[in-house]
Amino acid sequence: MHTDLSDLYQEVILDHSKQPRNYRELDGASNMAKGHNPLCGDKIDIYLKLEEGLISDISFQGSGCAISTASASMMTESLKGKNLEDAERLVKLFHGVVTGQNEDTKDLGKLTVFAGVQQFPVRVKCATLAWHTLKAALDNREEEISTE
Ligand code: ZN
Repeated sequence: MHTDLSDLYQEVILDHSKQPRNYRELDGASNMAKGHNPLCGDKIDIYLKLEEGLISDISFQGSGCAISTASASMMTESLKGKNLEDAERLVKLFHGVVTGQNEDTKDLGKLTVFAGVQQFPVRVKCATLAWHTLKAALDNREEEISTE
């Protein structure tokens, strides 16, 4: 299979990195967490509003490379309105696909574009940072989480 770096930066990733969705601090957030990927310098804060077992709202802020920003942006789009069970299932599925442990991408929807990341081990931490931070936010962990 032929893969080069330009395949990784598909249009959808570039679009989300230039115009991140749900990029704001969330008023009345019930949960939040900070994540840091020292390897690349990516920093992401995730805000959640949990209501009756649903992620009724989700947003993020931070600074980082195109992959980490697009991953956070698309994650917030995918998780808004989901219940916690579905959210955790998607976290596992995404992690499995970007690390190459799971080839089955059919339930990932648009997030399938990140499957190419598995070819670039350094970029895996960029792609998964928002998702690790999300898990910390769901647990309402206060200390900054790091991918290292
Ligand atoms: Zn990065």
